[in-house]
Amino acid sequence: MGKPTGFMEFERVGETYAPVEDRLKDYSEFIAHLTDAEAKQQGARCMDCGVPFCNNGCPVNNIIPDWNDLVYRGNWKQALEVLHSTNNFPEVTGRICPAPCEAACTLNINNDAVGIKSIEHAIIDKGGENGWVVPQPAKKKTGKKVAVVGSGPAGLAAAQQLARAGHAVTVFEKNSRIGGLLRYGIPDFKLDKRLIDWRMAQLAAEGVKFQTNTFIGKDAPGKGIANDAKKTISPKQLQKDFDAVILAGGAEQPRDLPVPGRELQGVHFALEFLIPQNKEVAGEGKNPISAQGKHVVVIGGGDTGSDCVGTSNRHGAASVTQIEVMPRAPEQENKALTWPNWPIKLRTSSSHEEGCVRDWAISTKEFVGENGQLKALKCVRVELRDGKLVEVPDSEFELKADLVFLAMGFTNPVAQVLDAFGVEKTHRGDAKADTHNYRTNLKNVFAAGDMRRGQSLVVWAIREGRQCARAVDEYLMGSSVLPR
Ligand SMILES: Cc1cc2nc3c(=O)[nH]c(=O)nc-3n(C[C@H](O)[C@H](O)[C@H](O)COP(=O)(O)OP(=O)(O)OC[C@H]3O[C@@H](n4cnc5c(N)ncnc54)[C@H](O)[C@@H]3O)c2cc1C
Ligand code: SF4
Repeated sequence: MGKPTGFMEFERVGETYAPVEDRLKDYSEFIAHLTDAEAKQQGARCMDCGVPFCNNGCPVNNIIPDWNDLVYRGNWKQALEVLHSTNNFPEVTGRICPAPCEAACTLNINNDAVGIKSIEHAIIDKGGENGWVVPQPAKKKTGKKVAVVGSGPAGLAAAQQLARAGHAVTVFEKNSRIGGLLRYGIPDFKLDKRLIDWRMAQLAAEGVKFQTNTFIGKDAPGKGIANDAKKTISPKQLQKDFDAVILAGGAEQPRDLPVPGRELQGVHFALEFLIPQNKEVAGEGKNPISAQGKHVVVIGGGDTGSDCVGTSNRHGAASVTQIEVMPRAPEQENKALTWPNWPIKLRTSSSHEEGCVRDWAISTKEFVGENGQLKALKCVRVELRDGKLVEVPDSEFELKADLVFLAMGFTNPVAQVLDAFGVEKTHRGDAKADTHNYRTNLKNVFAAGDMRRGQSLVVWAIREGRQCARAVDEYLMGSSVLPR
């Protein structure tokens, strides 16, 4: 604890955002990390709690009080080492994690939490700027081969850990570029894709091989699921060629809204809009969906919906409305009841701030069209009664819409992939494997990330990738020194 009185002397200082009118002009990141002086002051606010709730609230158990102290003392390089000891990709979490650590911070009980995420962001950016992030290839190779199916944060974290343990790792990806939802899904304005290339270069130098445009399975996934594969490898072949296989294919099955009019032109799954947008920004073709001059309605109030809002505004939409079936959450949580857990409260993202009408407790009954083209939504207001959503009588209304994005979450991983392997599924359709062994019902097939836990967060995917890597290392070698 650098400064015992820091939490009483200094206020929380947030990162600076470019003005809305500037950031809407393109898809660049618009959040500037803290200056050294600001980061030092934020570090000084940390109380180095006897029981650091932040560390427990963080799914990768980042050793937060230590790097807060190191930043306060100006020892950035060591802070980066501590940060990397628990987290393979802080350049991602420092940008897009919702920061459950901050909800858990002791200071959050009666004050503003330490700006943990902003300090993380500053540490990794400084590491990048100074060339401190270098490959750490294994000193000894084991001769064992591991295949990782899926190149999202779970697959990449597992691949990096296993390569550092000396295994020969190949990552297979059905899409044309590596990164999973980090690459194709999350908009560029939230996460600059050059960061993925930068980290991939480190993995490649550590020996990880990447094979893109390659689908592992039998039958290709269905509508609404991105697939650029030019080649298919059967699960049997993969199991024959590798000593262990990790399934890290994400939870890609989008939740549909099968109401009348679903087939109308203009009704799309969110990722049918967001993925081509990432590709357009990367110079890989034009987004076939344009929101320019259109009335856009986004159905679903989470991260994906918010990303559709931000992207539609960058297209120059005439209006953007986001509706959510659940009632509006309170602006402020009751901390006495919720701390140190993640509270349910109204969250306003930077995309919302850029311009969007938000409404809650609305159910969509029908998409209305003319000549096959969407024109409006027929909606009804709902309320929670005895834990169930029921329609409010006489509350039907229409919402003008040329474009609708369905952003109601993802139900489960693509069943065809798990079925092709013969992997047992949970009642929700996720790959069945526990969080100790990460092993499926098949001896040498493991599962991690959204494919195992269902739709979640990047930080959970990194945790599962790391823990799964340790389980695989133990399986291959009998023991492991990889951290869990
Ligand atoms: C639009 C959007 C915004 C989000 N924003 C945030 C955010 O701000 N913060 C946050 O923490 N989380 C966010 N999330 C959630 C987060 O992206 C995911 O939880 C995380 O990426 C899951 O990681 P994963 O590695 O398990 O899977 P994914 O990232 O989904 O990667 C899985 C990869 O496996 C590939 N694959 C699947 N099956 C096969 C196969 N059979 N053969 C070959 N390849 C295959 C897929 O093509 C994909 O590239 C967001 C999600 C979406 C959709
Ligand atoms: S809970 Fe907050 S104040 Fe306590 S150690 Fe963690 S970051 Fe510091």
